Amino acid sequence: MEDVIILGSGCAGLTAAIYAARASLQPLVITGNEFGGQIATTTEVENYPGFPTGLQGPELTEQMKQQAERFGTRLEYDEVIEVDLKRKPIVLKTHSATYETKALIVATGASPRKLAVPGELELTGRGVSYCATCDGFFFRDKEIMVVGGGDSALQEGLFLTKFGSHVTVVHRRDQLRAGPALAEKAQRNNKLSFLWNKVVTQINGDGALKQVTLKDTLTGETSESRVDGLFIYIGHLPNTNLFKSQLEMDHEDYLVVDPYLHTNVPGVFAAGEVHDKRFRQAIVSAGFGCMAAMEAEKYLASLD
Ligand code: NAP
Repeated sequence: MEDVIILGSGCAGLTAAIYAARASLQPLVITGNEFGGQIATTTEVENYPGFPTGLQGPELTEQMKQQAERFGTRLEYDEVIEVDLKRKPIVLKTHSATYETKALIVATGASPRKLAVPGELELTGRGVSYCATCDGFFFRDKEIMVVGGGDSALQEGLFLTKFGSHVTVVHRRDQLRAGPALAEKAQRNNKLSFLWNKVVTQINGDGALKQVTLKDTLTGETSESRVDGLFIYIGHLPNTNLFKSQLEMDHEDYLVVDPYLHTNVPGVFAAGEVHDKRFRQAIVSAGFGCMAAMEAEKYLASLD
């Protein structure tokens, strides 16, 4: 029987682990499929306080993990496939074990949104990617296209200019959602250009990506564009499938929490992008992780 299990190993989950471990709760973190969460798939992190010269995303999560382990956190590199929140203790099943816990912190984060167009699924890993850090290297001196107009599209597009012969950012409007700092940096980079008012309607290739079909959002005209690597950065969807019909969610499937991160089930707390669709910053998720751990500690004390 565990006191507290933390689901997820991004900034929220690992910070919750640091705080829960320092409260002598010996938390168990079930990491999920991708250790480190979203920040581990990004390159330079320049806005995390305490690192004035920046650091790499994976390095940040590795340091958080070491800090959590130093105080007694245990990590299981597994994925939860079933939960029963009606039972007390709460029951969780992973691919390899069943766990019981008095308190649960859900820090399962969010995953990249898909374009949902023909060819996307078939060509993922064969030219289509959601992670420049992971796959940029494969497109050295190749033609790269990035979809999206937010900070992620520009940050990763800029990173990809180190590899590709050219990077084209395709955006569905003619104004960026990204903040001015990244927008200016992107506009100054002569290996990066923009295609405005265009959406990808089809991804084409036979075993490997060859071209995309683009549609002009103003005229409706379609065109083909040859491309070797297509990186999709069009936002995220919360990882909440596991909790359907057990935890309260909003119309976009984000968990609903009170100001202290309590869900509708006593003893179940949420932290990070699984409920936060507004800020989506590593430091904010870390803050939520801290709050959830402190609330879990109070909840456990109330059981005694
Ligand atoms: P985002 O800000 O939600 O931007 C998503 C972009 O994708 C938008 O430009 C949107 O277009 C476009 N889009 C959405 N659905 C689409 C579709 N089906 N087809 C084509 N385009 C589509 O997401 P994000 O860029 O991942 O950023 C998420 C959060 O993380 C933001 O708060 C951002 O500030 C933060 N972030 C910060 C940094 C940094 O500070 N350096 C880096 C990365 C991310 P519209 O603009 O037309 O809606």
